[in-house]
Amino acid sequence: MIVCPSSKCGSPNRADLPHCWLSWPAESLFKALYAPPPQADGGYLAAAAVVLGIVASAGGAALPGVPAALGGLRWGALVHHWLTLVAAWDSSRVYLACAGRF
Ligand SMILES: [Zn+2]
Repeated sequence: MIVCPSSKCGSPNRADLPHCWLSWPAESLFKALYAPPPQADGGYLAAAAVVLGIVASAGGAALPGVPAALGGLRWGALVHHWLTLVAAWDSSRVYLACAGRF
């Protein structure tokens, strides 16, 4: 049986975080505390794309190609980081006895 990793708790009573999160009321403290990665609506990614575009075009006059390549690398890293956060959130479990997230 899988139990809570907290030495003070040890409860086996756990649930999937996304499932729990959806069931909590909006005024719940845990709703904000355990919220999914904030850019799930795509707004953050769109803003980052605009900033990267400005940086790439501003630097492009001096060193053509290099800023765009660096921008692409940063963009890839950003998306990868975000996907990692989303995957971690999706696979998180909440122990209902202590509200610990693992
Ligand atoms: Zn616990």
